Amino acid sequence: MDERQGLIIINTGNGKGKTTAALGLGMRAWGQGLRVLVLQFIKGNWKYGELQAAERMGDDFVIRQLGEGFVRNAQDDEKADHQQAAQQALKDAKTEIMSGNWDMIILDEINYAVKFGLVSWEEVAALLAIKPPLLHLVLTGRDAHPEIIDRADLVTEMKEIKHPYKKGIKAQKGIEF
Ligand code: ATP
Ligand code: MG
Repeated sequence: MDERQGLIIINTGNGKGKTTAALGLGMRAWGQGLRVLVLQFIKGNWKYGELQAAERMGDDFVIRQLGEGFVRNAQDDEKADHQQAAQQALKDAKTEIMSGNWDMIILDEINYAVKFGLVSWEEVAALLAIKPPLLHLVLTGRDAHPEIIDRADLVTEMKEIKHPYKKGIKAQKGIEF
């Protein structure tokens, strides 16, 4: 009997490491010959470090930027743009999930998109429901919705103990970008 199973994985919490842990999983999977796609729900968040790494890793480790700008301080009209972009991202995610082209798909900051009302938790739940059985789906971002947590197989909460920003230490190459 084939014991392989695609997992639903969530990295959430306020501590640093959600996206980088997801990328680490992606690297491990890629090393095993799996095909990995990273879709970004909040644009402008990607760092050159991972983009350049993905370039070198070739066709089986792809990072694609979706979404539109950063939402934290979005004005109302900007929010409409973000919403449209996030909805487009959701559509693209659905297409890729159904495509059979990937063994692991990382939906980066999708939890955040839900938190800010750009997509609904029901829409994310619908993505999980259509997931092919062997596909690993990784969702990152703070404040993962409880309904989505319910549907996951592996959930990790990053907890901040210390962050260098609090001491006024600036972003360091290879750590933050
Ligand atoms: P990373 O991409 O480094 O794994 P993350 O995905 O856990 O971080 P996000 O919520 O996506 O974190 O936020 C991205 C940015 O916010 C990063 O530059 C990160 O260092 C910073 N950040 C994350 N957690 C904290 C924190 N507790 N205090 C201050 N800055 C933080
Ligand atoms: Mg992140």
